[in-house]
Amino acid sequence: MLLAGDGREIPIDNGAAPIRLSDGELFGVVLVFRDATEQRQSAHARAWLASIIQSSNDAVISKTLDGKITSWNPAATRLFGYTPEEIIGQPITKIIPTELHDEEEYVLARLRRGEQVNHFETMRLTKNGKRVEVSLTVSPIRNDDGEIVGASKIARDITERKQTEQILREADQRKDEFLATVAHEMRGPLAPLRHAAAIVCRAEHARPEVQKACGIIDRQLGQLARLVDDLLDVSRAGTGKLHLNKEALDLGELVDNVQSSLRSQFEASHQELVVASPVGSAYVLGDRIRLTQVFANLLQNANKYTPKGGRVTVALRQEQKDAVVIISDTGIGIPAAMLDRVFDLFAQVEHSHERTRGGLGIGLNIAKRLVELHDGHIEARSEGEGRGSAFVVRLPMFEREE
Ligand code: ADP
Repeated sequence: MLLAGDGREIPIDNGAAPIRLSDGELFGVVLVFRDATEQRQSAHARAWLASIIQSSNDAVISKTLDGKITSWNPAATRLFGYTPEEIIGQPITKIIPTELHDEEEYVLARLRRGEQVNHFETMRLTKNGKRVEVSLTVSPIRNDDGEIVGASKIARDITERKQTEQILREADQRKDEFLATVAHEMRGPLAPLRHAAAIVCRAEHARPEVQKACGIIDRQLGQLARLVDDLLDVSRAGTGKLHLNKEALDLGELVDNVQSSLRSQFEASHQELVVASPVGSAYVLGDRIRLTQVFANLLQNANKYTPKGGRVTVALRQEQKDAVVIISDTGIGIPAAMLDRVFDLFAQVEHSHERTRGGLGIGLNIAKRLVELHDGHIEARSEGEGRGSAFVVRLPMFEREE
């Protein structure tokens, strides 16, 4: 170390040589001080990097472009079982299952083009023949001239993550089976109940209090039947059993039928149901029953989440090759953070002043799945709480051959 005039300590490499006169007598000495700051810094950076790699929890391996292993960190030893002495110099295919050797060719080809391979999920082989699931990130290593001379590979053990995913998938499947069983079992008693209620109500039609009770029974049973049907749909969708019977149909006519069948419900809630004129017609290839279900659900939601005196508007328009139905309301609105999430299963917005309005939070999830099965798109819009909402359904129009 040398002390500079300004007090800085400068790391140096030094050397010394004697100066002799022609007769060989020692005359003096040349001292050479070389500033070694840069050299020390890069040695420090190298040591720093090496210690990061040594302590990494991910296996870090490097190899030549013909697939010979050139370095192997302690995490690689933990994951694959080989010590550096055993594996360095060996072909990388030692840790690749035979049937995946082609995969290595694909990775090497990408590396030669200078490309990186990110989070590539695959299988590797340990020293004792066990298979481990890994996520690989492989990047090219270049020399000072920029030529690709090898590759560094980071392997993360994802066995545990994959197992957790499998457990979650199985739990999800059991949930779908449970929902299907519950819905089936509940559906059974509903039809005879409605039938029996209808008989009782017809027989006693003269007495007003019985008639009132009958109305309640009928409405509540209807509500229960809808919930049960929704549950069945959710479990069908979960198991990929939601099938459509598509036909060419006029979306304008369908939407018009839906709104007129629900008109009395809006009148009873003292809401105005407006049809933006003219609804017009637009042909789509769709399932009549399922599309009716989608728009009835959106209109019933608009009715449910709009206070007395509010207005709900239905509009249909054509945009390029799409038929677009917009159902907007002047109701309680949806906070921005919930606009996408209202389509999640069992999602319900918590409103500070609203009591819960019944429902399971599955209607919009089914609506979205149904719209997507029609190659369409559904979106919620709102300026925020208390400022109304709009649901926009976009379906590709059916191009009829002339
Ligand atoms: P729910 O049975 O709860 O109505 P949905 O899946 O139909 O279930 O709707 C999910 C949630 O989205 C509702 O609980 C409600 O919070 C919100 N939501 C749906 N439609 C509207 C609307 N028109 N205005 C305000 N909020 C709505």
